[in-house]
Amino acid sequence: MPTTTRPTPETAAFDVEAFRADFPALAQDVYEDTPLAYLDNAATSQTPAPVIERLEQFYCRENSNVHRGVHRLSQDATEAYEGARTSLARFLNAPDSEQIIFTRGTTEGLNLVSSTFGRMVVGEGDEILLTEMEHHSNIVPWQMLAEQVGASIEVLPVTNRGELRMDRLPEMLTDDTALVAVTHVSNTLGTVNPMGDFIDAAHAEGVPVVVDGAQSAPHLPLDVQALDADFFTFSGHKMFGPTGIGVLYGKREHLEAMPPYQGGGDMIDQVSFEETTYDGLPHKFEAGTPNIADAIGLGRAAEYIMDLDWNAVQAHEDAVLEYATEKLEAVEGTRIIGTAPDKTSVLSFVFDDIHPYDAGTVLDREGVAVRTGHHCTQPLLKRYGLPGTIRASFAAYNTREDVDRLVDGLRKVRHMFG
Ligand code: PMP
Repeated sequence: MPTTTRPTPETAAFDVEAFRADFPALAQDVYEDTPLAYLDNAATSQTPAPVIERLEQFYCRENSNVHRGVHRLSQDATEAYEGARTSLARFLNAPDSEQIIFTRGTTEGLNLVSSTFGRMVVGEGDEILLTEMEHHSNIVPWQMLAEQVGASIEVLPVTNRGELRMDRLPEMLTDDTALVAVTHVSNTLGTVNPMGDFIDAAHAEGVPVVVDGAQSAPHLPLDVQALDADFFTFSGHKMFGPTGIGVLYGKREHLEAMPPYQGGGDMIDQVSFEETTYDGLPHKFEAGTPNIADAIGLGRAAEYIMDLDWNAVQAHEDAVLEYATEKLEAVEGTRIIGTAPDKTSVLSFVFDDIHPYDAGTVLDREGVAVRTGHHCTQPLLKRYGLPGTIRASFAAYNTREDVDRLVDGLRKVRHMFG
């Protein structure tokens, strides 16, 4: 599938130092004489200067409300906001920018689908199929829906290495399966799921698929049409964009059939006390004043990403992950959680009996920013019998030196707690 194509090895080299220079936050010392090694990108990535400048431009020159104003600034803001939608449609290869809905992020995208489309297609006695590696935001909204309508949650298991049990998928897609929600890439394991095969299998049984793209949007070329995803959602802050903004893509026939998510200004056609009619796509799903500035910033981030040489970026990211995996395996007492052959940019591990939080605290003093804990995937960690892991997660600006800093930091951790 083109959506999970790995880079060709003979690709041109990626100039990581030039790329890093775009990210002001990476150049700082976090403690005295302690430069930052930022390895928490699966949580939130840093923001490049062109995105920061775009936000500044908006607030300095265009700031006003969209869609309703006749004046110059409002026209400029509307043009920029709708232009961002067009950029994001291109980023996903969506057929039409009207199928791009701005949300607060992945979590809101999933809640939007569960409480509108979910309510249409999931009924009493039905099953919602999830996987064992889902983030809480792709579990809890479906549980809430299941409780409301009398449906049940089924869970496709993962292997010890952290791959989906695709062999079990056919038997788990039963006559009662009304919907599947699955992550494209695991935020805890780094596994890249075979999304195309997964969606094909669900569609063969007539089951729509909601894809959580929070972790694939920053790392994989995306094509929602090739994937044939019914819905695809992601967050801006994990892909060099601002916080508090994200995207939900949906197939037109679904979006048109769905009721609105929230009511208010900007989503209506006509309002009277007797009856209200709704606006068309995408405005039907964007009640109230949207997060205009950050939508524009996210559009800029998408353009920024699309301007990169993706073969080179992916080759670099894979090389750093491979280097980190080798280096970490050589540190006595570490055990990597998530060893699927197809992985991207996440290295989760445990370190002897040292509590991940203790390790993270020592690493922080060394300037190494990692995440520790359950990563909002408690059921997955339970499957591995772990309360948490230490997670280093990479972006295109990370280097082998960042990895060396992590490994050196772990030696200090061992010295203190080992
Ligand atoms: N799904 C996955 C796989 C994630 O990694 C995250 C963020 N950690 C989310 C959903 C939720 O994203 P957000 O908090 O931006 O809504």
